[in-house]
Amino acid sequence: MRLDRIGVDESVAAVFPPARLVDRLADATDEAGVDVTAVDGSPDALADCDAVVTLEHRETYLDLSWVHSIQAGVDRFPRERLREGNVVLTNSTGIHGDAVGETVAGFVLALARRIHEYAAAQTDSEWTRPDWDEAWTVAGERACVVGIGGLGRGIVDRLTGLGLDVDGVRRTPVPEPGVDRVYTTDRLREVIGDARFVVLAVPLTDATRGSIGRDELAAMDDEAYLINVARGGVVDQSALVAALRDDEIAGAALDVFETEPLPADSPLWDLEDVIVSPHCAAYTRDYYRHVSEIVTESVRRIADGDEPVNRVV
Ligand code: NAD
Repeated sequence: MRLDRIGVDESVAAVFPPARLVDRLADATDEAGVDVTAVDGSPDALADCDAVVTLEHRETYLDLSWVHSIQAGVDRFPRERLREGNVVLTNSTGIHGDAVGETVAGFVLALARRIHEYAAAQTDSEWTRPDWDEAWTVAGERACVVGIGGLGRGIVDRLTGLGLDVDGVRRTPVPEPGVDRVYTTDRLREVIGDARFVVLAVPLTDATRGSIGRDELAAMDDEAYLINVARGGVVDQSALVAALRDDEIAGAALDVFETEPLPADSPLWDLEDVIVSPHCAAYTRDYYRHVSEIVTESVRRIADGDEPVNRVV
C-alpha cells in the first residue's frame, strides 16, 4: 500500500478535537514521509489522501486504500463493500479497556451505593436519605461479563478489584485470568441468572443483535442490573423497558442505545434505577493519543510491507 497522505475526518470531533490528532500524528509519521491533514467529507478534501482516520463512514472512502476507525466497533462501516473495493479497514480495539472498565466500575458503585440518587436529588437541593435497606456493598457479589476482549478485560480487572466474583461468556471455553467460570454463548441464559450485574461487552454482529431479549431478561435475578457498554442493538430495548417497568430486573446502566442520541421521549430517561450515559464510556482526554499510537504503528508496519494493526477487512 502506498501511503503519502492521511486525512483526519472532522467526525472525530465527537470524541476529541481533530487538530490534536493531526498534530500528534504528523509529528509521529513525519520521518516516514507521510503527511497528515484535517479533512471534511468532501471529495476535494480527500483527493490527495490514501487513508483516513474517522468516526463515521463516508461513501468517498471506497476510493481510498485504508480506513481507520477511531472506535472498536465497526458496525458503522459497510465491510463487504470495502472488501470488494480492496479498502483495508482497521479499528481501535485495545485502547478502551481502562476507560470503559472504570466507567463500569462507576456504574456498579453508583447503583449499589445509590450515588445516582444523591446526584439527582442535589439538582433539587433535596436532603433525602435512602431507606435502611436500599444501599448495599458490592464485594462478594457476582458479575457476568459477556464478551471478554479489550473491554471485557478492563471490566474484569476493575470488578475483581472491587471484590466482585466474575463469570464470563465467550464463544470458546478458554479460561481467562480473574474470571471464575467461563461459559460459552449457548449457556448465556443459564449463567446470567447467577449475576447481580450482567455487563455487555460484545461487538454488534448478526449473532449478538437482540441477544438480550425478553427471555434473557426474565432469566436475570429480579435484584440484578444490566450494564450495556457494547452497542444498543445487542439489547431488545422495548423488552428492557418492559422488564424494568415490571420489576423483572432491578435497574440498568446504559451507555448505548438502539437510537442515539436517546430520543427525549424515551421512557429510559425516567425509569427508576436507570443510569443513562451518552455513549461516552470510553471517553478520556488521552483518547487521541491512543489512536495516534495505533495509527503510527500501522504506518510503520505498512512501510515494512506488513499488515496494519487491528485489521478487520
Ligand atoms: P474486542 O474485539 O477486543 O472484543 C470483543 C470480544 O467479544 C472478543 O473477545 C470476541 O471474541 C467476543 N465476542 C464476539 N462475539 C461474541 C458472542 N456472540 N458472544 C460472546 N463473545 C463474543 O472488542 P472490544 O474493544 O472489547 O469492544 C467490544 C465492543 O464494545 C465493540 O465492538 C464496540 O461495539 C463496543 N465498544 C463500546 C464502547 C463505548 O464507548 N461504549 C467503547 C469501545 C467498544
